[in-house]
Amino acid sequence: MTRWHQWSGRVLSGEPIGRDQALELLRSGDDELLPLLDAAFAIRKHYFGRDVTLHVIRNAKSGACSEDCAYCSQSASASSGVACYSMQTVEKIVEGARAAKAIGAYRYCVVASGRAPAGQELDTICEAARRIKKEIPIQLCTSLGLLAPDQARRLKAAGVDRYNHNLETSERHYAAICTTHSYGDRVDTARAVKDAGLELCSGGLIGMGETLEDRVDLAFGLRRTGADSIPVNFLDPRPGTALHSLPRIGARDALRTLAMFRFVNPDREIRIAGGREACLGSMQVLSLYPANSMFTEGYLTTGGQGNEHDRRMIEAAGFRIAGITDTGE
Ligand code: SF4
Repeated sequence: MTRWHQWSGRVLSGEPIGRDQALELLRSGDDELLPLLDAAFAIRKHYFGRDVTLHVIRNAKSGACSEDCAYCSQSASASSGVACYSMQTVEKIVEGARAAKAIGAYRYCVVASGRAPAGQELDTICEAARRIKKEIPIQLCTSLGLLAPDQARRLKAAGVDRYNHNLETSERHYAAICTTHSYGDRVDTARAVKDAGLELCSGGLIGMGETLEDRVDLAFGLRRTGADSIPVNFLDPRPGTALHSLPRIGARDALRTLAMFRFVNPDREIRIAGGREACLGSMQVLSLYPANSMFTEGYLTTGGQGNEHDRRMIEAAGFRIAGITDTGE
């Protein structure tokens, strides 16, 4: 039995791994990668079986953002030439939910660029949420930036199931990637989301020049915050952004990182998110051993390999696409 299997056994008996073990895991060699993924899979299988939940993301408002997140092509300080439009109509957002349901998505994620939602934008999202929850059996997540407690309560009352707000990286590294808001602002929003009774989706972006210690601190920060769902993105550097010249991280590094998130957050939904195709390439199916969820049909500003390809990949490896009942549960 490898040390990874010993550790996964301990995790499953309720003994969490510590920071030093998480670092050791990230520093492990390539010869240990498959046993490591197998041990992470033992944890994943215990909580989620072989199910994979598919998420479809919609960019309901794009570009012209006042914030200066160094990785983001939607920031006004980037020169990326991304599409720029204001909040879509209720009808268009509802149509998107119907299209997501039609391709078997479990969850529909409505995202808007910007520091925080303006009054009218929140009205639109709440109206769309009420319509979606009445008409379409699908789980609903929104991601609208920093949120005040009363705004979180309005989303909950409108029927939104979950709110996304990533911590992105460690507290230590945060100031190097954004100066217009702080890590503490993000934690405050995460707290408002939990206090309102919404599920919290919060993860990060790997490959922004952070150290391995920063990655570990992000994983533990998310555990402390009580994230129910953890999207793990890998930087696919966008032209015109401050991080455009960083190299992509390698596939084996990405897989070890996913395994570390699984060990630190054993019973949380872990999603292989943006950068999957670009960073993992032909090894992307291995991400399903630690992760139990993924986006399909592309991301906010970049495309993916397509739903058909994703489904074939999942089924060929013996995983099962999670369904949803007519009541949306
Ligand atoms: S707040 Fe969101 S949309 Fe704005 S720059 Fe940061 S990541 Fe991009």
